[in-house]
Amino acid sequence: MDEIFDVMILGAGAAGLTAGIYSSRAKLNTLILNEGVVGGQMILTEEIANYPGIETTKGYMVANTMKKQAKDFGCKIKSNVKIKSMAFDGPVKSVELQDGRKFQAKSVILAPGGRPRSLNIPGEDNFKGKGVSYCATCDGEFFTGKELVVVGGGNSALEEAVALTSYATKVTIVHQFDHFQAFEHAIQEAKKNEKIHFIMESELRGFYGNGVLQKVSIEHLPTGNLSELEVGGSFIFVGYQPNTESLKDIVALNERNEIVVDGEMKTNIPGVFAAGDCIVKKYRQVTTAVADGTIAALSAADYCRNNK
Ligand SMILES: Cc1cc2nc3c(=O)[nH]c(=O)nc-3n(C[C@H](O)[C@H](O)[C@H](O)COP(=O)(O)OP(=O)(O)OC[C@H]3O[C@@H](n4cnc5c(N)ncnc54)[C@H](O)[C@@H]3O)c2cc1C
Repeated sequence: MDEIFDVMILGAGAAGLTAGIYSSRAKLNTLILNEGVVGGQMILTEEIANYPGIETTKGYMVANTMKKQAKDFGCKIKSNVKIKSMAFDGPVKSVELQDGRKFQAKSVILAPGGRPRSLNIPGEDNFKGKGVSYCATCDGEFFTGKELVVVGGGNSALEEAVALTSYATKVTIVHQFDHFQAFEHAIQEAKKNEKIHFIMESELRGFYGNGVLQKVSIEHLPTGNLSELEVGGSFIFVGYQPNTESLKDIVALNERNEIVVDGEMKTNIPGVFAAGDCIVKKYRQVTTAVADGTIAALSAADYCRNNK
């Protein structure tokens, strides 16, 4: 492990690949280590229709183009790796993989992304992308003219339910408590929308259908009564989980396990930056991940110049 990279990026989603493009184009010796398939959540996205400047395209095509751009500028990418340990204190940062390989760099960009929290109930995995969704901005339009169920009672659930009424004929919000944990204005917006209906003190118990989602079962918690609701789709907003479990004792996280950064994407450790869905922020999109990745790479370049 004699080679010391200028920039080591952990994660090859939209944020990490963008950081790789900017960093290697600035002639910094750049390595991306990715614990999964290159492209991250973009690979899960059937169509990306809201990326400015490109017509609707498949998520995997955007991911592959970003990967090619990074590699063409000289960025090295190692995917499907498993990280064993990380040490970021001091001027040389190091990462050891479970297969024993070790990598060193002068700066690090953390871009491990995240995942929507799931309900972990029967049928959920089977119907992902076939009626079960976690992103109204991304998938709402595909449910035009359908009846939907939205699960959750926080700001996201209520705001996204209202957004979904632009497409759906009816949206039923299922929430486990008798009150919402959202801002009053979000609650009022949802309540005054005639397309929105509420089933309170209830939880989903399963998703059912024949190839695509057709109905959900719902338990009324105070009585234990089970009922069925026919739906054309369901949206789950019960929280978001950043992939930061392995970073807990390494960088500062907030109470939601998001990496704390400043406007230049600096973490609390000198030379360590973070970008994308893993950081403290409200809106998680390809555009925002790409923006964070750009800033993180430019900040890392600055850091490398000032710490030769
Ligand atoms: C179903 C779905 C549809 C979506 N549709 C759209 C859309 O239409 N438009 C839009 O703008 N946004 C959409 N989004 C959101 C968008 O995809 C994400 O906000 C964005 O891709 C996040 O990019 P990221 O690089 O921060 O993270 P990710 O895409 O999550 O990438 C992180 C990568 O890092 C890897 N990794 C994890 N931990 C580690 C580690 N410790 N070390 C190294 N690697 C690690 C992961 O395996 C992954 O490959 C959608 C999301 C989903 C789930």
